[in-house]
Amino acid sequence: MTQHPGKPAGLVDPRELDLFEFARSGRQAAGTVRVSQLPRMLNEVPKEAPDRDTAFTWQAEGAMQPELQDDGTEGPQPYLRLAIHGPAWLECQRCLSPYEQAFNVDATYRIVKTEEEAEEFPLDEDEVDVIVGSRQFDLVDLIEEELLLSLPLVPKHDVCPEVHESLSSGASGQEGEDAAKVEGEDAAKGEAGEGEEPKRPNPFAVLEGLKSGGSGGKKH
Ligand SMILES: [Zn+2]
Repeated sequence: MTQHPGKPAGLVDPRELDLFEFARSGRQAAGTVRVSQLPRMLNEVPKEAPDRDTAFTWQAEGAMQPELQDDGTEGPQPYLRLAIHGPAWLECQRCLSPYEQAFNVDATYRIVKTEEEAEEFPLDEDEVDVIVGSRQFDLVDLIEEELLLSLPLVPKHDVCPEVHESLSSGASGQEGEDAAKVEGEDAAKGEAGEGEEPKRPNPFAVLEGLKSGGSGGKKH
């Protein structure tokens, strides 16, 4: 963005935005907001996430668009476009471990003056939401709202790491004994019930053992 030294009005406080002026002058703003600034969003981030305070970038743009009014004339009406991009860690509902979810919001709002006006607004366009503007509009709050709305219904990995295989092959001790012969000591100890120890980070040996044990035809 170009800087105009004599125009400090270029600075925008996203917590106190004059949304009507923003739209009327077709202004643009951009910034970064962290999860730690969004308490409701932070609630969704599991405690054991590698990074609980990821950052979202946002861009906002105001505009006036002609709109048919009640009296049949066309009048310019205020609009806001808001884009948000960034990751947050959520808890996978399948394996219960944290995973990184990407958020990509691109929303357009018709800005109205009052709650009553918002309720009466004819929603004939699905792509446009209605928001009640103000002279001290909290854009960060709107960003949080949009992120919450974008939360997946069931947060989960595309493919869960390591866990789903052992669940679906029904781990049992007997198969483990067979696997031990194939895979060696590590697999043997894992199947004996000591595999939970963090100092033994080799779950794949166990999985391989289960697979060859389960199929029954790969023993030598
Ligand atoms: Zn998962």
